[in-house]
Amino acid sequence: MKYRSTRGGVSGLAFRQAVMMGLATDGGLLVPHEIPDVRSRLDEWQGLGFAELATRIMAGYIGDIPADDLELLVHRSYERFDCPEVAPVVDTGDFAILELFHGPTLAFKDIALQFLGNLFEYILGQTGETINVLGATSGDTGSAAIEGLRGKEGIHIFIMFPDGRTSPVQERQMTTVADRNVFNIAVEGSFDDCQSLLKQIFLDAEFRDRYRLAAVNSVNWARVLAQIVYYFHAWYQMDRPAAFDVAVPTGNFGNIFAGYLARRMGLPIDRLILATNSNDILARFFRTGVYRRGEVFHTESPAMDIQVSSNFERYLYYQLGGETRADKAAGEVRAFMEGFARTGSAKLDFNTPGFDDTFVTGSASDEETLATIRAVRERTGYLVDPHTAVGIHVGQACRNPEIPLLCLSTAHPAKFEDAMHHALPDISVGHPVLAALDGLPTRKERMKTSLEDLKSCIVRYAI
Ligand SMILES: *Cc1c(COP(=O)(O)O)cnc(C)c1O
Repeated sequence: MKYRSTRGGVSGLAFRQAVMMGLATDGGLLVPHEIPDVRSRLDEWQGLGFAELATRIMAGYIGDIPADDLELLVHRSYERFDCPEVAPVVDTGDFAILELFHGPTLAFKDIALQFLGNLFEYILGQTGETINVLGATSGDTGSAAIEGLRGKEGIHIFIMFPDGRTSPVQERQMTTVADRNVFNIAVEGSFDDCQSLLKQIFLDAEFRDRYRLAAVNSVNWARVLAQIVYYFHAWYQMDRPAAFDVAVPTGNFGNIFAGYLARRMGLPIDRLILATNSNDILARFFRTGVYRRGEVFHTESPAMDIQVSSNFERYLYYQLGGETRADKAAGEVRAFMEGFARTGSAKLDFNTPGFDDTFVTGSASDEETLATIRAVRERTGYLVDPHTAVGIHVGQACRNPEIPLLCLSTAHPAKFEDAMHHALPDISVGHPVLAALDGLPTRKERMKTSLEDLKSCIVRYAI
């Protein structure tokens, strides 16, 4: 399998090159030339454990890692999960829930970032190179990236977060990690300031190359790839329904895009229900064809307080025919994204019949989110976190009642104690992994929002 850029400037990369490049050098995202059809393998894969299934699904996208090595990498990536299924399905009666929060940081990002950490280490181990990984986080990505990369040979990781603006739990998850290759940078500014520093430093080609900077955000293809697996694994756990709907709480479009690929690989997902909070740029796009940047609202589901979703570009590429007429699709993606960058708005012609009937969309307000947390608890006794609640609210409104509904649960409720307290003031939600962080020594370096300060920090601590 080879990889190319959604904007046409790069093609013919092997998987390992695509992983190390992260963002394509022409500003696009890297995508496989084709999406493999696995329908003829579904019987044979019945009964496989998560890691065995993951190895087989990933192998279809990876031509340059021997099968034994891949199997080892995958097994190591799911060793730290706290249940043997890795991602178990729980049936509530009305709908099924896919629990994606059994990894070390209790959010679904562990599924991809545990794998990416091992993959980086494996590739660097073969080439003898080293990298400095740089990321910006408003909360969940930072701790999951740190847990994926802590203690890894040949890698230093720098995570910027807005000082005092992540939740206390999220900050402890990052700053209590004692490994010497982890550097937390508390920026005196907003998350947008952190992201803008990140962009600026990656645009400085000389600095980027000298310090071999690498990125862990969801533009990295390996993250999407790892996320395809749990859609299949859930379908087997649900006893292989002939058709089912999946509701996905969405921010950066990474999780649901993996579902889109699973569907195109032959998994019988009927509709992908795209659920957003009041940051609803994607929901509006799928209703109108207009992709327009708006103001970012702070909500009870902060991991989805995102306006511009990087993985959306991959979807556009395939939907515009990237598999069969790559150059034409890449030209259209480039025009769309350049128009969007210039004016903050771009439009796609949705009138083409059958352009896309995969997605249905909706959004949940904070009140609806909190009410859903309460309603699910009253009806079933089950506690869901606010992100999962957004998915359940929209999923129930949009589902086809004739077929099963699977709602993806993206975090453990204990990670979002404020929202849980707003919804259910009488109960307290904890988790032993988080309780164990209390009182541990913390490490962070405070920094002004300054590109020069960031550079000197990296110069000081780079590998
Ligand atoms: C990151 C995150 C999301 C959003 O996932 P995307 O892949 O960015 O759409 C949803 N819920 C939680 C808890 C998250 O951490």
